Amino acid sequence: MSRFAGWLGPLKLIILALVACVGLAPAAAQDKRIALSFDDIPRHPGGFMTPDERTIALIEGLREAGVGQAAFFVTTGNLDQDYGRNGEARIRAYVEAGHVIGNHSHSHGWLWNGDTAAYIADLDRAEAWLAGRPGKRPWYRFPYLDEGRDTARRDALRAALRARGLANGYVTVDNFDWAIDDLARQAIADKRAIDLRALADFYAETIVRTADFNDRIARETLGHSPIHVLLLHETDLNALFIPDVVAALQADGWQIVTIDEAYRDPIAQLEPDTLYLGGGRVAALAAAAGRNPDSLVYERTDEAELARLFEERVIVKDAR
Ligand SMILES: [Zn+2]
Repeated sequence: MSRFAGWLGPLKLIILALVACVGLAPAAAQDKRIALSFDDIPRHPGGFMTPDERTIALIEGLREAGVGQAAFFVTTGNLDQDYGRNGEARIRAYVEAGHVIGNHSHSHGWLWNGDTAAYIADLDRAEAWLAGRPGKRPWYRFPYLDEGRDTARRDALRAALRARGLANGYVTVDNFDWAIDDLARQAIADKRAIDLRALADFYAETIVRTADFNDRIARETLGHSPIHVLLLHETDLNALFIPDVVAALQADGWQIVTIDEAYRDPIAQLEPDTLYLGGGRVAALAAAAGRNPDSLVYERTDEAELARLFEERVIVKDAR
């Protein structure tokens, strides 16, 4: 007893100090972690390349950026479209490159204004196509992030997913990557000159700032930074610029993690008690905690603002 008494006291103090340090250490900038997810697979074409070329470029871009595993959420009805031809092979190519697939419905409908039973039958149809495929994960990504605007629909879907062993494939960083892709597609169709370097910078900057905006809200709401899930789409811009986006995130202190790791975060188990669900999980948790939803939308999550910035920064001005 006396043999240990001499150093037990100081040792206990050191242990307590260590515990206190770990417990109180503020989440540092390098603690920001994020996984990537892509929606609407196989998606309609953009302005730069064919869907087949896009898949090859996106896989290569993710490899170059060191993204080992992203999620690709499949809208199975798109396979019946012209642009969905060969879509099954493209989905297989993503999985063979190390990525995983989830359910993004068959018809990409809104939940808030439709028949709930028909909506559930539609996601079952997609689930039947996806079942047993390599890389399949039990995740459902709500089209338009629409989880219902009334408690009856919201709770019916929460119960339906649970009954099917599906989890909500939520995002925490909602953004309008699709709108920037659309601005580029329209500029090309209108034969307007665009500065590709400026486009890459504008796009990557928008993603980084939107991620930081949501991370600030998460820290203010939860007291720490959860593992984030970035919403993206299968666009030409992502095929062209995903290494730029990842490099910009890393330069800002973000670490890219796998989507499997992201959905192991404790916030994956939460069902926010709010109807403000269309802006992603962090915004929903903040709204459930009493924050004004108006303060939860980043300024660039807005088509008019993106169009203004695109015109200003990406369109090449006539030098004559
Ligand atoms: Zn979608």
